[in-house]
Amino acid sequence: MENWLSKRARLTPNRCALKSGAKQLTFFQLQAQVLQQAGRIASLQPRKRVAILTDNTMTGYLTILAVQQLGLEPVLLNWRLATNELNQQLNDAAVDLCLAADRLAQPLAARVISFSQLSQQTPVASTPVAEFPPNGIASIMYTSGTSGRAKGVLQTYRNHFFSAMGSVLNLGLTETDSWLCCVPLFHISGLSIMMRSLIYGMTVVLVDHFDATTINQLLCTQPITTISVVPYMLKKLLAQLPTDKHYNAAFRCMLLGGGAIDRETLTHCQQRQIPVIQSYGMTETASQIVALNFASAEQKIGSAGQPLFPVQIKITPENATNGHILIKTPTLAAGYLNQMAAFKQHFQHGWFDTGDIGYLDAEGFLFVTGRSGDMINSGGENMFPAEIETVYQQHPAVQQIVVAGQSDPTWGSVPVAYLQLNQPISAAELQQYGRQHLAHYKVPHAFYQVESFPRTGNGKVKRRALTPASGRPLQ
Ligand code: ATP
Ligand code: MG
Repeated sequence: MENWLSKRARLTPNRCALKSGAKQLTFFQLQAQVLQQAGRIASLQPRKRVAILTDNTMTGYLTILAVQQLGLEPVLLNWRLATNELNQQLNDAAVDLCLAADRLAQPLAARVISFSQLSQQTPVASTPVAEFPPNGIASIMYTSGTSGRAKGVLQTYRNHFFSAMGSVLNLGLTETDSWLCCVPLFHISGLSIMMRSLIYGMTVVLVDHFDATTINQLLCTQPITTISVVPYMLKKLLAQLPTDKHYNAAFRCMLLGGGAIDRETLTHCQQRQIPVIQSYGMTETASQIVALNFASAEQKIGSAGQPLFPVQIKITPENATNGHILIKTPTLAAGYLNQMAAFKQHFQHGWFDTGDIGYLDAEGFLFVTGRSGDMINSGGENMFPAEIETVYQQHPAVQQIVVAGQSDPTWGSVPVAYLQLNQPISAAELQQYGRQHLAHYKVPHAFYQVESFPRTGNGKVKRRALTPASGRPLQ
């Protein structure tokens, strides 16, 4: 394929490519600035991979694109990681050069050049790559590390292209589409917006960090059509949207990814006329592979939707209610960096086992019920934390609850709950509530009140890191 940036700058040079605060660039200007940045990076004589440590700024955006223009592989680092975690990833990816936003520049296991230092470099003449080879590595990013050590995922241009196609065939595209990106560029949710922008010729409104008031204001007053959010962002936006305010008339999609959401929030969105499109995907699939379409959103509440056009899904064992979710998709990454054997282990006769559990309903809509590693087997009965959490999340005393298995001499494992409360309540009351709504074996045997939940750099709760020592037992 021809270099996407060159092609886009030729096709729609005057269309707005990027807005960030008061600054904006057309595709023509974007290309000019990216190539200048590429010339500066080339002056540092980077090897094959260049790490980028940035928040959602225009310079960060230009830098990621610039590395691709040089035919090199950007390794996107999560700035919320601790120094030793960053170093692990730099070593794993054998990176010698790390370009870092000024506020994030720090001594690391690679040569660190801050964006200010980079801006002082005299650009050297460098020719952008003529083509983006379909199997070439467009980006390397690490999984969230929810289930253990994060894995470096090799995402190809082909992966991003098919991902963009699957998305647009579901959501459609208009001449004036503009996508607000407040999800991190180092995560597939953010990077996929950048890639779509080049492919679709669409404006990206880049926002540096998530602040619900600011985002709500932008969505109400600017002609933004789409935003990507994760569950906690959606909840905050909803809670803080003033009752007399509505999103702008062109707004057409709040794309929700990254994890499950409760029905109550979705119903509340319907009441506020916020069109939420639920989706399911992972770093390994270069963003969403399953999404609800607008027509089914109301009728299939709680479902992650149907496989996007290029994607096939099956459940094994077939028709199981809690089966493994297997996928076949051109968006599936080329592998895990330095862990090809681990990647290959996911395959069953050409299908990739996601490690997630769920079922397909009679009409082929996917419901995700949990991760295989989170399943609790209690005396031969299987259950998933999400089911128990959903029930308790509706109790007024419960602010947030996370359920996990705890080993037990009689049952092998039993569910226990970690929670934050809105008001005091006893364990006996919570158990009684559980028995009214759940099979008895699913009722948590103990409740631990926690100050906070252990989270990954992407904000996901690390269920497996919770132990009774994480909280105070409720009496
Ligand atoms: P690691 O692979 O390192 O344990 P991770 O799987 O959390 O981390 P990501 O690739 O960021 O890393 O997240 C993908 C996972 O998020 C999916 O495999 C799934 O478990 C979960 N997920 C994504 N979308 C949904 C959804 N709609 N409902 C439920 N879970 C979801
Ligand atoms: Mg994963």
